[in-house]
This record gives sequence, C-alpha cells and structure tokens, in this order.
Amino acid sequence: MAVRQNRSSSEWQKLDREHYLHPFTDHKQLGEKKSRIITRADGVYIYDADGNKILDGMSGLWCVNAGYGREEIVEAATRQLQELPYYNSFFQCAHPPSIELSRLLQEVTQPQFNRVFYTGSGSESIDTMIRMVRRYWELMDQPDRQVIIARKNAYHGSTIAGSSLGGMKAMHAQGGFLLPGIEHIEQPYWFGSDRSMSLEDFGIASARLLEKKIDEVGADKVAAFVGEPVQGAGGVIIPPDSYWPEIERICRDHGILMVTDEVICGFGRLGRWFGADYYGVQPDLMTFAKGVTSGYLPLGGVMVSDRVGSVIIEKGGEFFHGFTYSGHPASCAVALANIRILQRENLVEYVANDIGPYLQKKWRKLAEHPLVGETRMVGLMGALELVRDKKTLERFDEDDSVGTVCRDILVNNGLVMRAVGDTIVVAPPLTLSHAEADELIDKAWKCLDLTQAAVK
Ligand SMILES: *Cc1c(COP(=O)(O)O)cnc(C)c1O
Repeated sequence: MAVRQNRSSSEWQKLDREHYLHPFTDHKQLGEKKSRIITRADGVYIYDADGNKILDGMSGLWCVNAGYGREEIVEAATRQLQELPYYNSFFQCAHPPSIELSRLLQEVTQPQFNRVFYTGSGSESIDTMIRMVRRYWELMDQPDRQVIIARKNAYHGSTIAGSSLGGMKAMHAQGGFLLPGIEHIEQPYWFGSDRSMSLEDFGIASARLLEKKIDEVGADKVAAFVGEPVQGAGGVIIPPDSYWPEIERICRDHGILMVTDEVICGFGRLGRWFGADYYGVQPDLMTFAKGVTSGYLPLGGVMVSDRVGSVIIEKGGEFFHGFTYSGHPASCAVALANIRILQRENLVEYVANDIGPYLQKKWRKLAEHPLVGETRMVGLMGALELVRDKKTLERFDEDDSVGTVCRDILVNNGLVMRAVGDTIVVAPPLTLSHAEADELIDKAWKCLDLTQAAVK
C-alpha cells in the first residue's frame, strides 16, 4: 500500500493545512474550516474519511461521466502500465493505445475531424489550439490574423493562455500581463440580462456582438472565435438555440475559424457526443479533456479538422509544439476503455432520451421554491438562480454569500453541487439512475429550505 490509509481525518487535515497548496483556494480560510478528506468513490457516490456518503452532483469536476468504480478502466490502465508505462510520440514513434484512440475519436466526432493532437489537460489543449490557430493563418499567408475572440465569464483553463482567453475578471486581476491579441464579448446570459427580449432574439443579438467586434478589430486581423457550447464554470450559461448557428454564420462570413471548447460538453454531457453536435454547428477545432477519460487519468487534446490539418501538414513543416505526456499510453488506454463504456452502455442516448429529460423535469419543479428565480438544464448540466425576491427576480448582494451558504448546507446533507456566485450548478455522472435523480432533487429541495431559514 503506497498511501497510508490509517490516519484519522484530523491528522490528514493538519498535514493538508501545513503542506498542500490547493487549486483555486483561499488557504487562510481553508485553515479555519478544514478540508473534507475524500477517501473512496463508487457509482455516483463519494465517501469521506468521517464515513459520510455523498451524492456527487458534480461528477468530480465535471469529468467522471462514466461514474466511479469502473473495473474495466482500472484494468485497462493496469495492463498498459505493465506493458508500456511510458513512451513519447516525438521522433517518429507512436504506440498502439494512442493510435487506437485517435481512430476512435475520429469515429465519435463530426466528419471534418480526422486528426487529433494530444495534451495532458484542458488548459494545455487551449494553449495548443491558440498556437495552432495562429500557425494556420501564418501558413495561409495572412499573418495579421492573430486576434482570438472569446466571451466574458468564459472558462478556458488556468495557464497564462487559458486564463487570458477565459473571461474571468478575478483571474485577470491577478499576476500582471495577460496574453496579447485576445478580445472578449458579452456572454449569452439571458437571466443576467434585463430580460426584455425573447430568448431567440436575445440569442441572435448576443451572437451579433461577435460581428460588431470583428468590425471593430478588422476582419483581416481576426483569427478565430472560441466558446464553450454551454459555459460550465461560469455558471452553466445555456445559450438560446439561435445563438450558435448565428455565431457559425458570422465566422463563415468573415472567414475566421470557429472553435468549440468541449472540455465539459464533450463525451455525452449534453446528450450528444459533443456540444457542437447538440447545437448543430461544425467547428474547425474542438478542445477536449475531462470526460475523455472520465477523470481516471489526465488527458486532453485538440480535434483538428481537415481545413486546418491539411494546411499544417502540407505547408507547415515541423510544428514546434508538444508535451512530454502528449498521447500518454496509460491515459490513452483509459480513454479507450471509457469511450467504449459510453458506447456499449449507450450512455449518450440515455442522457438524451431517458435520464436527461427525467432530471430536467424534476429540476424545473425546483423553480417553485421561494428562493429560486430560474432553473435551466440541458442534458445533465444545469443551474438554478438563488434570488432575494421571486417576483422581481431581485438578486442577493454581490458578495455571493448565499450561494456559499447553500453549497455548504448541500454537502453537509449529502449532495455535492457547486456555487458560482448565487448560481447553484449541477452536472452528475451520466450513469445517474432514476432513484438517484429523485434523491438529488429531494436533497436539493430540503437544502433550499434550510438555506432560506439560514439567510432569513
Ligand atoms: C476545466 C476546463 C478547462 C481547463 O481544463 P484543465 O484540465 O483544468 O486544465 C478548459 N476549458 C473548459 C471549458 C473547462 O471546463
């Protein structure tokens, strides 16, 4: 046993506090509150060191699509680690798992995608995509096309490129210079608008902000537009159905590349293989990570369309880019096993036709709660808005404390959902059963009651 399992949770909490810097964490606050030590997981449940069983309504961090405890994935990793734990794909080498996975990814993606570039994470996929987009335009003899347009409140990872491309104000405010050549437009967040337009009109108007920005920058300087099909970390911002087709029209009219960041939406989350499939658009590049391995091992990548791939390959010579762990054999073996599970168990169709509609219907009922101003969900990805006044939809103060109170009450009552400000988000494993969906909704309602009592 490599990891000691026999410490008490307070011992672990002490060591954690003393030695471990967590991602996106206020450590002074954590020191006072203590971390929850998660020791094991099975199906849709996680278990902590104090013996609590918690329904994981967030699939870890939006990634455990196939659920926990999949022996088949564990065996695939074990076998690969025994046979060939590591070799690189630089210097004219490759190995069976990375090749087989490339073929399988070609099978589950749209017809324009025949090639993939591997990375170790979503952030590295974003960095790769940016370098590839700019390289493409160099090779097209339009080197002035450097500007990439993204949205405010988008999340595209945490490296310098990822945090610059993302539209998170708090991230931009730390650490000085951002990557140049990035512009942001408003997000298609209907509930956050003045709600004077119909949803469809609002979708078109939000997309036209891209056209306005392109005119402002100059079409000959714009390289690409990048967006999450549904914004995840920003609070599950579901665009109106009119939005993405209009974005696609604008990209085509101005000749710029369209990129969907599928790190969350990919691999079944919306009841289609990818978010672009759900919205009926054909991107030129797709970044992915998270659900490709259901989080069992780290892996990311960029799906490269023939439009971009043929130029990079035919005209480009060597593309000076790549990572030590690009196409890591164990990660690729895990991804293969994971995608085969999604296929064999028809989990994408299960989300589209069964558990998706089932949970959505119940989720909509939460809108009747006095604390809830709006609920929304596509596939198994949803949000609810906590409001001070249900009639006027007036929100609580900007300090976001109500969302945090609600999130803490939820986890203490056996359900993980995340708070993004006063927006509560949910994204359970795609394997969720009807009984587990019922449990999720019952717990959510009860915790909304407790939150209401707490903030009165
Ligand atoms: C999580 C996420 C990323 C970053 O992925 P990491 O693996 O954490 O680097 C990028 N884009 C989106 C849409 C994400 O949700």
